Amino acid sequence: MSLDEHWFSEAYEDEGVAFSLRVRRTLLDEHTPYQHLQVFETSHWGNLMTLDGCVMLTSRDNFLYHEMMSHPALFTHPEPRRVLIIGGGDCGTLREVLRHPAVEQAVQVDIDEAVTRAAERFFPELTEANDDRRAELRFADGVAYVRDAAGGAFDVVIIDSTDPVGFAEGLFGAAFLTDVHRILADGGVLVQQSESPLLHGEGIIRNLHTALAEAGFAQRATLPFPVPSYPGGWWSATLAGKGVPVDCFREADAAAMPFPTQYYSPGVHRGALAPPPLLARAMAVGSGTFP
Ligand code: SAM
Repeated sequence: MSLDEHWFSEAYEDEGVAFSLRVRRTLLDEHTPYQHLQVFETSHWGNLMTLDGCVMLTSRDNFLYHEMMSHPALFTHPEPRRVLIIGGGDCGTLREVLRHPAVEQAVQVDIDEAVTRAAERFFPELTEANDDRRAELRFADGVAYVRDAAGGAFDVVIIDSTDPVGFAEGLFGAAFLTDVHRILADGGVLVQQSESPLLHGEGIIRNLHTALAEAGFAQRATLPFPVPSYPGGWWSATLAGKGVPVDCFREADAAAMPFPTQYYSPGVHRGALAPPPLLARAMAVGSGTFP
């Protein structure tokens, strides 16, 4: 990360690419017990939150990520009543989850309370549902929470994490995903943020499919979508079902959804289920399933 007088820049050195936003001022600069948390006011993208120099969200484009991390999974499950979010401390995914009338309980477990407190101050629109009686905010390590949770406790598990490094690395491994499989009820659905199809297709996305297969998830699909402020500008969410397909969803319910969206629609969902060949290859586990 570099910040000169007017620009925040996140350089993705391995790929020789950077994304920059013009900033007006620093709103928060805090070393939490876990990470370096900063919030900037930008000239055109509203506020920007970064963790350890990596863009987490901007006011302007976070809807793309939060809608695709929630609605495809919740419209895939026939009746998502109990939802667990691991990470997601900015609360944008939680807000989208709580828009679904079937949801009775939404537990969010982020390791770092400072992220949520910063979101309350600088992204209040994302935390507006936090007082909903169905929401439960916990601050703990998601790996430990899932390890200790009861079997079959959730219908949908959403892994809205930082990149797979440091304490977030475990959230991408087969041991953690095996625990997620255990705490999902039969017919449950997992969704995990899975980085960039362009930059991470052959690495993180392929490895994630291998780990999910090892954990018992035979049905999987990686849905691509744009997020201009993330490395490469093109991101993905990987769905996996516990004994259920994830390549079909409640299309009629999605068409009649009783809340507004800016990106998600049944057509967008259907389109995202048709992976481009480069992504289909990354999703294939073992030579026998290579498309
Ligand atoms: N949309 C973002 C992205 O892809 O860049 C992710 C946003 S969200 C703020 C990520 C959250 O994951 C952070 O608040 C971080 O504290 C949390 N996190 C990382 N590792 C975690 C773990 N092991 N348990 C719980 N939360 C974790």
